[in-house]
Amino acid sequence: MQMETNEVNLTKVLTKIQRRPDLLEIVQYPNEILNMQSRLVTNDFAKIDDFQQLIADMENTIVSYGALGLSAIQVGVNIQLVVVRDNKQFYRMVNPIITKVSSEMDYSKEGCLSFPGVHMRIRRPSFVEVKYLDENGQSKALVATGMLARAVSHEVDHTHGKLFTSHMNAMEKEKVLKTLKKFK
Ligand SMILES: [Zn+2]
Repeated sequence: MQMETNEVNLTKVLTKIQRRPDLLEIVQYPNEILNMQSRLVTNDFAKIDDFQQLIADMENTIVSYGALGLSAIQVGVNIQLVVVRDNKQFYRMVNPIITKVSSEMDYSKEGCLSFPGVHMRIRRPSFVEVKYLDENGQSKALVATGMLARAVSHEVDHTHGKLFTSHMNAMEKEKVLKTLKKFK
């Protein structure tokens, strides 16, 4: 797994966020930002108000869209931060690394806020173990199964500039492009 070592000036990055009243603006495919490797967070972020606000805004955005997760890069903030939810429980993950995956795979439908209207069946591991720092900077590990495993896998992919289309064949990608055209 690729690691980035250049440090992030969080304050500078966070002031660039464009906000609507409640929702964060979602970067839409094919914006090339979505292909970028997100930068590692090396600051002491727990006490940075804008950082905590970003997390709260991401959660609002997830709930408003009925989504299961969102990565910071999807709101134009190039840092390794993802938020996923399991019903009402939110997991805020800074610098998440997937440390174990099952060989057993699930094949289920998923969507992505950067691909409005698109829902495709994607093959993903049935369980994943992810290590990360929580919003307070504490080291955590989570073993996720089912839809949570799928959400973690999808969002951690985003931090590496990897989109769910990379798990699709040519025909499926074609279908995605057609759906996106309809939604424009
Ligand atoms: Zn996505």
